Amino acid sequence: MRPSLLDPLFAAVTTLEGVGPKLAGLLQNLLVRPGETLRIRDLVFHLPTGLVDRRKRAEIATAPEGAIVTLTVRIDRHQAPGRAQKSVPYRVFATDETGEIALTYFRAQGAWMENLLPVGETMIVSGKVEWFNGRPSMVHPDFVASLERAETMSLVEPIYPMTAGLSGKVLRKAIGQALERVPPFAEWIEPSVVKRQSFPTFNDALKRLHDPADAADISPENPSWRRIAYDEYLASQLALALSRQNQKAVPGRAMTDPAGRLAKVRAALPFALTAGQEQAFAEIAEDMANPERMLRLLQGDVGAGKTVVALMAMAVAVGSGCQSALLAPTEILARQHFASLGKLCEAAGLTVTLLTGRDNGRARAAKLDAIANGETDIVVGTHALFQEDVAYHDLGLVIVDEQHRFGVHQRLSLTRKGRGADLLVMTATPIPRTLVLSAFGDMEVSRLSEKPKGRKPIATVALPTDRIEEVVERIGNAIAGGQRVYWVCPLVEESEKSDLMAAEERGRQLREVFGEDTVGVVHGRMNAEEKDTVMGAFKRGEKRLVVATTVIEVGVDVPEATIIVIEHAERFGLSQLHQLRGRVGRGDKASACVLLYRGPLGETAAARLKVMRETEDGFRIAEEDLKLRGEGDLLGTQQSGLPFFRIARTEHHADLMEVARDDARLVLAKDPELKGERGEALRALLYLFGKDEAVRLLRSG
Ligand code: ADP
Ligand code: MG
Repeated sequence: MRPSLLDPLFAAVTTLEGVGPKLAGLLQNLLVRPGETLRIRDLVFHLPTGLVDRRKRAEIATAPEGAIVTLTVRIDRHQAPGRAQKSVPYRVFATDETGEIALTYFRAQGAWMENLLPVGETMIVSGKVEWFNGRPSMVHPDFVASLERAETMSLVEPIYPMTAGLSGKVLRKAIGQALERVPPFAEWIEPSVVKRQSFPTFNDALKRLHDPADAADISPENPSWRRIAYDEYLASQLALALSRQNQKAVPGRAMTDPAGRLAKVRAALPFALTAGQEQAFAEIAEDMANPERMLRLLQGDVGAGKTVVALMAMAVAVGSGCQSALLAPTEILARQHFASLGKLCEAAGLTVTLLTGRDNGRARAAKLDAIANGETDIVVGTHALFQEDVAYHDLGLVIVDEQHRFGVHQRLSLTRKGRGADLLVMTATPIPRTLVLSAFGDMEVSRLSEKPKGRKPIATVALPTDRIEEVVERIGNAIAGGQRVYWVCPLVEESEKSDLMAAEERGRQLREVFGEDTVGVVHGRMNAEEKDTVMGAFKRGEKRLVVATTVIEVGVDVPEATIIVIEHAERFGLSQLHQLRGRVGRGDKASACVLLYRGPLGETAAARLKVMRETEDGFRIAEEDLKLRGEGDLLGTQQSGLPFFRIARTEHHADLMEVARDDARLVLAKDPELKGERGEALRALLYLFGKDEAVRLLRSG
């Protein structure tokens, strides 16, 4: 149970004064992911990104157009609109030594105005100045106060990231109240770290960030920001360390393949493994032979050949008397794995079952039977593999492909189906080291850094859209020569519908050129079966060109595809472009990638296309992408618009990540149940950053 200390922070925002359902709705969109519950905590973690400094005084005559200024003025006269003149504003004229300004209010009441700005008084007014016909005015000043009162008020205001329909004033007021609900927390950071980093306390850091005195106070480099970034890293590292501790607590098993299934798979391989594949597999095999549970990440660029390595690991598991499961993020990928493993498995005498959300009725029951009684050695599928009613005879190895599409904690539920099952995660996103740490925690990492021999470099060109005809002509030649082509259509942000229209429209045009049967279209609105039909025809060569939205992004393997055209390449992220390009260059023929862009290119878009032309090295691309975009996007969380971390920014705080990892490890070594005083504090930290899952592990384990 969540410590009651935290209750005020986990209350609904509507318990704040002035926050009703409508405002709560706006805040919901601004602050949390769809489906998450908005809490007062989320307001507390919404940090300002700028500030308005109203301390410096300006003069009327020289106040710049559009600037927010603070003036010291004498109130001269009020000019109320006539009764019938609803659209005419109420004006108050005020002067300083340099000139006169109109303070303008719409729908104002006379009595209220006279009280607010009494004639003859000297007052401070602050707001945006606008010049019209040589006369300055200030519409609805943000801030009006007598001289004495201004002395005691904070003239520096934080500016928060906003959303349409929300006013800064309202948001500040809500956050101000939220801050009052933050309870005094005990220190959860290791004292030596606090000292070395000169961290303020959590409470002080929050206060400082929300009530900045100057620009330095809201810089990510500021000790207050670093402190909370560290807290966030610590929570995530501790959660990951707990899940690791939990996995390792259950004894694993030593899988050494006494039945010799690996040798059979090896004998069935139509190619020699690369040195990198051998190396990665050796690391995996060593983990598997070890009685501790394996927790390993296999990183390899698209086309590097991870699937074969996975198959060999599965063969070892089966040869050790248990089952393996291979989990893919999409139906298409699951089918593809099933198809490509099928032949090798048959040759090696391994039985494989495909289980996806599409299976139902008697066919599904038969599959479940085969899985439950052990007839099936290997199960390939989507998350249908881990539905409640799927029981395994004896699951010993779980392999997750493209893990970042699954939640970080989802994998916990995956291995629960087995008894001390080993876990291998495969990802094609070449995530830089700091991100491996943040997303996967302390997993062992194997890397496939080279591609299978014989792969030709992919010639990458960037062309403006008006040269599309040349591209179509070239494709015509390629198709006539038996090659296959992907045509990726623009990622349209506004709606899925226009995305789809773009793909269908392009499909129609290309059919006119190349013929009805040559061209297929695949888009996100199609169901899995429809997509498979088209992709199947493409794979078999019945269709030569497939127009697709980004559904082909991950993993689809058609070695005969040699050309990929990406329309509106300027709208794609770098990693996404790289993933897409990886759809070609998988066979031994020379391949090409055409990036069609619509100019003029922004700076970032130009930089992305340049990197694409310069390199095929996935790791370099990932590093560049991180520089250009930030980590949330890299991990594929961009759909939600919210970053992977709320407070921490890799570009400023990367140094803290490893400190947090060590801190988390150390504390668990001393207090694995988090029962001591600091342990209690850390539990609060975990809840504070939404790591409830991890706390639950403490209880069960
Ligand atoms: P990844 O999953 O890493 O993107 P795959 O495992 O799908 O890559 O492999 C891509 C293609 O390369 C497949 O067609 C696969 O059969 C082939 N392949 C894998 N390893 C080798 C190798 N050592 N030599 C030649 N081809 C290979
Ligand atoms: Mg793959």
